[in-house]
Amino acid sequence: MSFASLGLSEALVGAVEAAGYAQPTPVQQRAIPAVLQGRDLMVAAQTGTGKTAGFALPILERLFPNGHPDKSHRHGPRQARVLVLTPTRELAAQVHDSFKLYARDLSLISTCIFGGVGMNPQVQALSKGVDLLVACPGRLLDLAGQGSVDLSHVEVLVLDEADRMLDMGFIHDVKKVLARLPAKRQNLLFSATFSKDIVDLANKLLHDPERIEV
Ligand code: AMP
Repeated sequence: MSFASLGLSEALVGAVEAAGYAQPTPVQQRAIPAVLQGRDLMVAAQTGTGKTAGFALPILERLFPNGHPDKSHRHGPRQARVLVLTPTRELAAQVHDSFKLYARDLSLISTCIFGGVGMNPQVQALSKGVDLLVACPGRLLDLAGQGSVDLSHVEVLVLDEADRMLDMGFIHDVKKVLARLPAKRQNLLFSATFSKDIVDLANKLLHDPERIEV
């Protein structure tokens, strides 16, 4: 099986080849076609399975098929169409790096948002417009509350390492972020395990999800 046969186009196939990926991992083989179809996903996968590319590649393919952002926001800065929430800043930075690697031939603006550092550089980056946001929930809420980020154009939401997000007590922040998103969107939930709390969250968040366990 090849990345091209899963429905990814040249720019992305070139980027994964340059990254040295010979073939899709099991989670990628199942997640990529489902995300391309626009389905919600509930994925049980550990770090190391290739889960990040499993959501990043098909999101890039589906939302930016010509390698360019939507031109409909021509008047004023572009607003995020993709939001990835992560529990830690390390994971946010890692996921952001992965998106940048795969999107190297696309002209997208991505920004990474996390706490523990000054807000101004993030505010400035956001003011120039953004297509794709990778964020920790607390800082994202602060920025949204002060009007520095507009989440009303998000079409795809990813909750990465959702189990850690719950363990770290971020559920209230996550819910506040969800309240700022459009109701109509694609939701992708990734977790190491399907605990009862995760299943409860999935039942509230996901619509007819494809369940993938690797
Ligand atoms: P992840 O599970 O997303 O944290 O990815 C673990 C590591 O696997 C990362 O360093 C990726 O660059 C790498 N990786 C992802 N997909 C593939 C693939 N299809 N073939 C080889 N390595 C991969």
